[in-house]
Amino acid sequence: MKLILLGAPGTGKGTMAQRLRDDLNIPQISTGDIFRKNIKEETPLGLQIKDLLARGEFVPDDITIAIVKNRLAESDCANGYILDGFPRTTAQAEALDSFQNIDCVINLHGEPEAIIARLAGRRFCPACNGTFHTSRLQSETVCPVCGGNLIIREDDREETVRKRLEVYSTTTFPLIEYYEKKGKLRTIDGDRYVDDVYDDILAVLKK
Ligand code: AMP
Repeated sequence: MKLILLGAPGTGKGTMAQRLRDDLNIPQISTGDIFRKNIKEETPLGLQIKDLLARGEFVPDDITIAIVKNRLAESDCANGYILDGFPRTTAQAEALDSFQNIDCVINLHGEPEAIIARLAGRRFCPACNGTFHTSRLQSETVCPVCGGNLIIREDDREETVRKRLEVYSTTTFPLIEYYEKKGKLRTIDGDRYVDDVYDDILAVLKK
């Protein structure tokens, strides 16, 4: 199953992608995770894109497309994958169509104010890449999975979130129409309890 998860930042794409990865046993490919890993490891790419991510702006299409193309050519993607955070522009979607045949696009819909509230409580563990919400954490600073130090992602700060939502509505939103026209889009209400959202996604994939 070759799957794309679309949705504004904070609609729960990453959480859903991780659950699908575990249940379907196919890799989750998150361009955001790939970029953050490069920044953490201070690779040439990481140094080049660090400021872009901190400002909530996009990494250029040519760089992003090349990274995804190489990643999808790896053997663990042969039986399918979940793309989380890619494509984000029409140019990326067209490039993807030129080298892959996607089965289904899940569009997680979220209202902007619900997203801002959700992201304000999001905490990230750089040690295990886990993402959590303060409403479900006993401690806001200790990772419940590995004991690492939880942080607020630079791009989850309210000002950056508003900028990311604006970028999303101008560049990524047109992808909804793009995949709708191809008959591949399935829209799900993401402003609900995570288990209900996930059940809906599984039901859509079974069809
Ligand atoms: P995410 O974790 O998916 O929200 O991504 C974090 C940041 O990485 C985004 O705000 C962008 O700066 C960058 N990024 C991730 N995926 C892409 C993409 N497909 N195209 C351009 N930039 C991206």
